[in-house]
This record gives sequence, structure tokens and C-alpha cells, in this order.
Amino acid sequence: MPGVITRDPSAALITPRVLITGSRDWLDADVIHAALKQVWAELCPPYRDDHGVYTRAVPTLVEGACPTGADLIAYTFACRAGWGTERHPADWRLHDVTCPRWHANEMRCHRAGYRRNAAMVKLGADICLAFIKDASPGATHTATLAARAGIPVRRFTYTTPGAVPRPRRVRQTITRESNR
Ligand SMILES: [Zn+2]
Repeated sequence: MPGVITRDPSAALITPRVLITGSRDWLDADVIHAALKQVWAELCPPYRDDHGVYTRAVPTLVEGACPTGADLIAYTFACRAGWGTERHPADWRLHDVTCPRWHANEMRCHRAGYRRNAAMVKLGADICLAFIKDASPGATHTATLAARAGIPVRRFTYTTPGAVPRPRRVRQTITRESNR
């Protein structure tokens, strides 16, 4: 069943990890707050400490450090709630060997976000929360990677009324062969 948290009991003392991915123009903070509170309750049930006082552990939030939208809303929640935070900003200036040749002249690497998403997923999480507005490709990509890696995923989607699907960028590839 998707989205069900299954923790290894032997991992009880390891801080739970909550991976967030979401659209940079996601606005509805209430949806994110409710989802975070829900997984907090599931991952860290309250218990009585040595002094008989009810307490609860805090998870670590893992996110892409986007300065707007879902990442920012989740990060702000985590800071206020006393969670640990682990930020993974993409390095947009850095191309790598997987970049197509036409990137060489680009100041900004279009694939940096995808590489960062894959790296975050690879680090592992107990749950992935995806807040996807108008089928935004970055958050959709991360949710897919997380599911493929065996991380339970909960998807929250929002479609702007009247929104038209994003056009897929069509790029004409010019190769040496085609110039012959
Ligand atoms: Zn690149």
C-alpha cells in the first residue's frame, strides 16, 4: 500500500527522516503543515521519559532548500517545531558528464535539480511527501525516484483551475551525422 510507513524496529533509536519535495510555487501551507504533523505522530509517538513526563522525538526534514514554495513552507515548519533539518540546494552552475553537449554554453545547468533530487533520494528516508502543483516536473520526478527506491510516498496535488498542461520543450538535435 503506498504511503504506509514501515519502520524497522531495530531503527528505533535512529532519527526518522522525512523527505519533502514540492513545487516552488506551492502556496497552501495548511496542507503541508497537516501532512508533516501526521507523519510526526506516526514516526514519533509520544512516550513517558525517565521523569514520567510525556515527550516525543523529532524527525529530520530533508529538502531541496528552494527559497519559495513547498520547501520553504516545510523548512519553516521544521525550524519552529524543533525538527532537525538537512538542506540540499542544487548547484545550478555545475554541469557534469551526463549533461548534453549543448549545455556547455549555458550559465545554468538545467539538470542540476534532477541530480540533487536523485542524491536526496539515495540518502534514504522513512517517508516522502510530494506536493505537486500543476504536475510540476521536479516534484513529480523526485516522487517517482523515491517510490522506485522503496520509500513510501504520499502525493498531494493541486491543479490551478483552467491551467493548461506545460508544453514539453521540443529541441531539435543537430548531430554531425545529420549535417552530412
Ligand atoms: Zn548541465
